[in-house]
Amino acid sequence: MLQGIHHVTAITGDSAANVRFYAGVLGLRLVKTTVNHDEPGAYHLYFGDEGGRPRTLITFFEVPGAAPGQPGGGMFHSVAWRVADQQALDFWEQRLAAHDTVVDREDGRLAFADPEGLSHVLIARGTRDDDSPAQADGVPPEHALREIIGVEAMSLAPERSRAALVQGLGMADLGESLVVGSGDHVGRVGLHPEPMSRGAQGAGTIHHVAFVSPDADHKKWRERLTGGHLAPTQVVDRIYFKSVYAREPGGLLVEVATVGPGMAVDEDPEVMGIALALPPWLEPHRTSIEARLTPIHNPRTHG
Ligand code: ZN
Repeated sequence: MLQGIHHVTAITGDSAANVRFYAGVLGLRLVKTTVNHDEPGAYHLYFGDEGGRPRTLITFFEVPGAAPGQPGGGMFHSVAWRVADQQALDFWEQRLAAHDTVVDREDGRLAFADPEGLSHVLIARGTRDDDSPAQADGVPPEHALREIIGVEAMSLAPERSRAALVQGLGMADLGESLVVGSGDHVGRVGLHPEPMSRGAQGAGTIHHVAFVSPDADHKKWRERLTGGHLAPTQVVDRIYFKSVYAREPGGLLVEVATVGPGMAVDEDPEVMGIALALPPWLEPHRTSIEARLTPIHNPRTHG
């Protein structure tokens, strides 16, 4: 069984503003500053909990100056996060409003969008002993964003998506939503029941969603995707995890990613995220890559 949502990857047109919001306002840790392996002239930024663990990661491909996208068919949208309780929602209601972010509070949840329009919802769902919230100025750890627990899916063909996600990825079908994982490692994929017209990928939209595979099961998941007629890619080494990708018949791009080796594989966990991390094959090009990247300000750099 897959074990929840490994990460959500979205697109930003403005990395500096993206870091200001996700690290500076939301208090996530910028756990990895690297480049898009397929477009090494642009950032791939990873935000997460203190350890940068799977199930807490939201990552952004930078497409400098990208026009705003339009969520629609074939795309995931809206990221649901677990926070502790109503007091945490009170805290975020005030903090987001103080940072010019419009919030919508209703029983047990708080919805808002990032500066580029990507939707989020915080849900009061308790704490767990192994939570390791990011340390951030202005965000008490008891109120921190703790884990990604859900995404919404808009499909070009919802019933075909349902079948693919159930057969290919082993999700449980609860009707309005699909559940991936169980127990402490569970995520929910809300499936909009009507077919949606195609969205436009751009700033503030989600590129893909990855689900957690135990390392030992990863090859089997690729076989299962193949058996589910999902035409997966080969296994790709993303340095911090291994991945296979597949676009299901409703247009959604899904990924199955391993837990290991993790975000600390190439940096000291104390300082990871501050320096630009490059995979070995791009290291010889570091100088020219760094020259092309816009400077960003990681709050960790200055304590
Ligand atoms: Zn991914």
